[in-house]
Amino acid sequence: MTELEQVGERWEYAPAPESREIVQLRERYGHYVGGEWLTPTETYTTIAPSTEEALAEVGQGTAADVDAAVGAAREAFPVWGALRPAERAKYLFRIARILQERSRELAVLESLNGGKPIKESRDVDLPLAAAHFFYYAGWADKLEYAFPNSNPRPLGVAGQIIPWNFPLLMLSWKIAPALAAGNTVVLKPAETTPLTSLFFCDVLRQAELPPGVVNIVTGDGRTGAALVEHPGVDKVAFTGSTEVGKEIQRRLAGTGKRLTLELGGKAANVVFDDCALDQAVEGIVNGIYFNQGHVCCAGSRLLLQESIAEQAVEKLKRRLGTLRLGDPLDKNTDVGAINSAQQLAKIQELVASGQEEGAEIFQPECRLPEKGYWFAPTVFTNVAQSYRIAQEEIFGPVLSVLTFRTPEEAVEKANNTAYGLSAGVWTEKGSRILWMAERLRAGVVWANTFNRFDPASPFGGYKESGFGREGGLHGLAPYLELGE
Ligand code: NDP
Repeated sequence: MTELEQVGERWEYAPAPESREIVQLRERYGHYVGGEWLTPTETYTTIAPSTEEALAEVGQGTAADVDAAVGAAREAFPVWGALRPAERAKYLFRIARILQERSRELAVLESLNGGKPIKESRDVDLPLAAAHFFYYAGWADKLEYAFPNSNPRPLGVAGQIIPWNFPLLMLSWKIAPALAAGNTVVLKPAETTPLTSLFFCDVLRQAELPPGVVNIVTGDGRTGAALVEHPGVDKVAFTGSTEVGKEIQRRLAGTGKRLTLELGGKAANVVFDDCALDQAVEGIVNGIYFNQGHVCCAGSRLLLQESIAEQAVEKLKRRLGTLRLGDPLDKNTDVGAINSAQQLAKIQELVASGQEEGAEIFQPECRLPEKGYWFAPTVFTNVAQSYRIAQEEIFGPVLSVLTFRTPEEAVEKANNTAYGLSAGVWTEKGSRILWMAERLRAGVVWANTFNRFDPASPFGGYKESGFGREGGLHGLAPYLELGE
């Protein structure tokens, strides 16, 4: 060990916890319907996954709650849909600005209820959430220019169902384009992460959004199913697992309701031997350990060109040893808590299958907190394409490493999955980036970077990753009737 490494090993980061004081939680929350809080008939407790501490009681939405929310959205639609577009834009701009003003409060809450590191919710989730409202506010009065000669009109009521990995950001991806297009909304957040959606209702009140334009009903999958099936819903937008996505598609068949699905992924991050390897290692780490790997577009399959595989894996393992796992509210934390006991069990089961099938596991030395749900950053080498860890979405901080020799082989292996959401390419050669991007069957291809998002850039997948796009004009079109 060099002298520098010895010195480095002795350095410890002092705790730098963000204060929780800024968030005032109520003991109990209802559903937000028609601009009022509706008292729920059933409730459940939402917790902090890092400590298992109970945070609040929230409503378990029943079919009657969903019916009330859809009713409120239907009632609000004629006025909201006919409002002068520039007026609609004003509300969206207002929401965006309030999100910025209250970003610290919302970031703390997001980390508390979801388990993600505060530096991610503060520097990624919140700025992007506000950016989505700003972006779509800008389009609200320009729909005629965005979709020329097609007489763009809103659809009616959008039923939106979001997952727990980016709660407020997914809410923004869904609500901002729907409102900009003139629709009204009923949204169901994920069961484990309802709190930022409920706080968002306060943002709506502050923005003086007319009652009924946005309604939030909390609850589990049953609430989601009731929303999907409600006859008063004109369009369903869903982000979540492929399994539930398929079920929704089956239920909507023949109903005439519009549907967009943003489902799972098993992205290949392809690293060529001419790349800037240290930068690529940072990209690989960001690709899979960002948000504990609870990312649909996570770079969960690392494809290394054989000539650099050994060196890359060694660098990666060393880098893993420097990741700090722990309190999501500590500003130095890189890897936070797993979102739920259920998700932890799923990760553990898939990791055990990787070991049984013959892959070699590496985890850096790291002490997991005693309470809460935790999983150490993990790398698997010696992975065959047929292994479950190379095929199934683990949705956790687990990377499967495979190798390739030629670009053609890289493409074959990268595309050898049921999914098609995202991919990464690391090379110094511009022409190779374009060659790869043309052949990779993925909705998003990042070059020499990973997990970059912009509201103007459409995001979505092929194959079992779903259909429809979010972001950009592509994300606006599914909320509009176009043509005569
Ligand atoms: P789900 O697909 O079950 O959850 C997504 C959302 O759909 C949640 O709000 C959920 O409610 C709701 N929902 C569940 N069942 C139904 C239904 N029948 N009709 C309508 N809505 C429903 O994902 P999970 O949270 O169960 O996660 C399971 C796996 O899915 C993960 O391990 C991961 O692999 C993958 N996943 C992928 C995501 C992505 O972005 N691609 C996001 C989340 C998960 P509730 O919260 O109550 O379950």
